[in-house]
Amino acid sequence: MAPSGLEDLFGNEISNGPNIENGDLPRAMVIAGHPDDSDVGAGGITAKLAKAGWEVRIIVATDGSKGSSQANINQKELVAKRIIEQQNASKVLGAKDVKFLDFIDGELEYNRNLIAKITKEIRIFKPYAVYTHDPEAIIINNSFVSHSDHRATGLATVDSVYPTARDPLNFPEHMEEGLETHKVRELFLWGTNQSNLEIDISDYFQKKIDALKEHKSQFDFTDEMQNRFLERWKNDDGKYTEKFRRIVFSR
Ligand SMILES: [Zn+2]
Repeated sequence: MAPSGLEDLFGNEISNGPNIENGDLPRAMVIAGHPDDSDVGAGGITAKLAKAGWEVRIIVATDGSKGSSQANINQKELVAKRIIEQQNASKVLGAKDVKFLDFIDGELEYNRNLIAKITKEIRIFKPYAVYTHDPEAIIINNSFVSHSDHRATGLATVDSVYPTARDPLNFPEHMEEGLETHKVRELFLWGTNQSNLEIDISDYFQKKIDALKEHKSQFDFTDEMQNRFLERWKNDDGKYTEKFRRIVFSR
């Protein structure tokens, strides 16, 4: 039996969520460019899935070492701080754990090495669903530039989901290490210009706010800032939502 209460996540018409009898696991992986991105992009759904009994693993590609406006900051200390902030935020949301790939912030390159690292994480965890940045958006809503690390992370993740994690001739060394190929069933992209799914996080926005507050090195979390976030998440019906571009893969 799939965990219940997820009808609004997986829709009535295209998918019923994980088929446990077929070997699907109620697991989601959130793959982000920097510490805090997973919480901004998918903090609500992370909390919602965790509450429904899913295991959520967060992967952070870079070390966040450039995430400061102070030119003379100690970057080693900043990295150490941001690791703890991300771990605390993940705990607030109920995620199972968080792993850091330790690439240098601002210098992430889309290449075979990045795909190998992400493919390996997918083969280890075997998620039913993967959440990441939409790599197609360079400018989001004509308002934001999608950071190049976001685009590299998103593109390498999309390419890891299909085809590399699925096919045994990609990174056969993983199989020699005892891993198996894995087929992700659903992909959800945030920071997108092509959203086709709005998930109601009204019961979880407070957890999302609390998670964002853990990123003390990034946000000076005033009431004004909180209101700005809430305004951004509110839809026309007054519900708080997260928007995704959702891709369902056929079996
Ligand atoms: Zn970022």
